[in-house]
Amino acid sequence: MIEVVLADACIGCDKCVLACPTNVFDHGTDGIPIIARQSDCQTCFMCEAYCPADALYVSPESGPDPRPHRRLPTEQIGTYRARIGWGRGRTPGSSVAIGPELPTGRPRG
Ligand code: SF4
Ligand code: SF4
Repeated sequence: MIEVVLADACIGCDKCVLACPTNVFDHGTDGIPIIARQSDCQTCFMCEAYCPADALYVSPESGPDPRPHRRLPTEQIGTYRARIGWGRGRTPGSSVAIGPELPTGRPRG
C-alpha cells in the first residue's frame, strides 16, 4: 500500500496521479501529490514504476502499516522501478526475466 510521497525528491510531474488506476492521489496545490484515498490503493506499484524521481514508497503490505513509528525503508525506495528496468540506463525486466529460454533461429516447418 502507498505509504509516502517524499516531498524533497518529488519534481511535481503528476505521473503518479495519472498512472494510479484507483485515483488514490490528488494534485497538490504546491505540486506535491497528496495521498487522498490511501484505502483505495491496490498495491499495484504503478505509481512507483512511473515516478521518475524515486519519490514514492509503496509497501508490499496490502493494508496500512500498523507500526506508526517504523523507520521508512529508504534503501527500498525506487527498487521496484529499478528491478523492472524502467529508467535510463537500466535493463528492461523482460530481458532478464527468469523462465524457459526463448527459442532462437528460424521457425521450423
Ligand atoms: S500502488 Fe497502485 S493503486 Fe496504490 S497508489 Fe500506487 S498506483 Fe495507486
Ligand atoms: S511521479 Fe514522482 S515525481 Fe512525479 S509527482 Fe508523483 S511523486 Fe512526484
